[in-house]
Amino acid sequence: MRIIHIAVEFAPFAKVGGMADMIYGLAMAQKDDDIQILLPNHSSGDLSVFDQISDPINLELFSYQKATYKNLSIVLFQTSQNDFKREHVYGYADDVARYLRFSLVCHQFLKGQKNIIAHLHDWHAAFFAFLNQKEHLTLFTIHNLAYTGAATLTQLLPYASSSELSCLKEGNSYHLLKAGILFADRITTVSPTYTQEILHNPSLLQSALKKNANKLSGIINGIDTDYWNPATDPHLSLNYDTSTLSKKEDLKRLIKKHFGIEEKKGFVVAIVARLVYQKGPEYILEAMKIVQQWGGGCILLGSCEDESLMQKFFEVKNISTYLSFTYNETAAHLAFAAADLFLMPSIFEPCGLTQLIAMHYGTLPLVSRTGGLCDTVEEGKTGFFFENQNHRDLKEKLLYVLDLWEKNPDKWKEMQINAMKKDVSWAKSVKEYNHLYSAISETYSQQMR
Ligand code: ADP
Repeated sequence: MRIIHIAVEFAPFAKVGGMADMIYGLAMAQKDDDIQILLPNHSSGDLSVFDQISDPINLELFSYQKATYKNLSIVLFQTSQNDFKREHVYGYADDVARYLRFSLVCHQFLKGQKNIIAHLHDWHAAFFAFLNQKEHLTLFTIHNLAYTGAATLTQLLPYASSSELSCLKEGNSYHLLKAGILFADRITTVSPTYTQEILHNPSLLQSALKKNANKLSGIINGIDTDYWNPATDPHLSLNYDTSTLSKKEDLKRLIKKHFGIEEKKGFVVAIVARLVYQKGPEYILEAMKIVQQWGGGCILLGSCEDESLMQKFFEVKNISTYLSFTYNETAAHLAFAAADLFLMPSIFEPCGLTQLIAMHYGTLPLVSRTGGLCDTVEEGKTGFFFENQNHRDLKEKLLYVLDLWEKNPDKWKEMQINAMKKDVSWAKSVKEYNHLYSAISETYSQQMR
């Protein structure tokens, strides 16, 4: 069986958040298998990352280019409407229409190909499952249920009749993500706890999920531990591992200088996130104030377009704090390496990759008890939880953590080593995906008999 990933992000070509890392990391871990990745040819993407890229092959509805990246086979699509010639990957009024056409193009491209499993990622690729009508075997991965790809009937009518489309309706809209839930052979989310949460917490698509619970399971994401590796990371001027943790301290001093941070205690907390509701920006703000008052430093790398939210952060900025509201890959590596503590007070978190990266860099995560954070962080061993999502619990736990760092360096170091030694690679999860692909094709073979 050949695995075909259909997704809109892929690191390092086009990355907005964790999905890009996930597709890259999973594909690299699957490298020995026959796999291919289908992507939009985003103008905002960096084509220079590819080792090879073909000239465009022009067809009626779309054109495509074949590329390779570290021996991974990639196909980049442009539609005849030039849907992906935009400054950004997302954020346009016609996103739903653009990504519907992406699903359609991928469907056309794969027509007639034999022995494949199409692995669809999030709502952008979910409509493929609707168009597919059982031609190919499909696995649909929900990276984040909060984004459902809400569409109008008018947007969908070019693809099917209103009666065929009615199954996608929920509330006043049609939801592309629901196509993945209803029509894919199997569904995964990116952690076991998030799977339970979306089955049990009320949401627009809860009933569809419950009805399809027999197809649903959770597989935790990993990170590419070659790319995210403090011992070899080329972004760092000093590299370190568990046996040379004092170099992490030296690095912290250098990076504080680089970011222009001055603070009293020699302690730094980092936040690296898209600053949206999901990531708990109000908690981040509160925690930064507490750390500042206590005498520590803060690094906030928060991709953000909300002017009023940025203003709130600027109001608390002082000499102990570095703020950046753009996406900056190098700065993220420096932040993960320099910090003592990584803050992730998410309201909900399907998996979360940054806590994994932080642990791998010996930076202990303080996280809320939700979703994939529950499956990846161990209280008092590799990180810390604040139990209930309220400002009092966050403050109490943060003060406890700051006190532990100050008074019990041996315990802190022991936890850093635990965190760095924790297996956050794709090794285990790739086996679970392979198992699932086999189960899908096995069920299919039985049905054919
Ligand atoms: P999500 O997918 O919800 O955005 P994850 O924790 O799964 O969150 O993954 C986020 C990814 O995006 C990580 O690789 C993180 O380092 C990166 N990232 C987020 N914001 C920034 C930023 N401002 N600059 C650089 N990298 C960022």
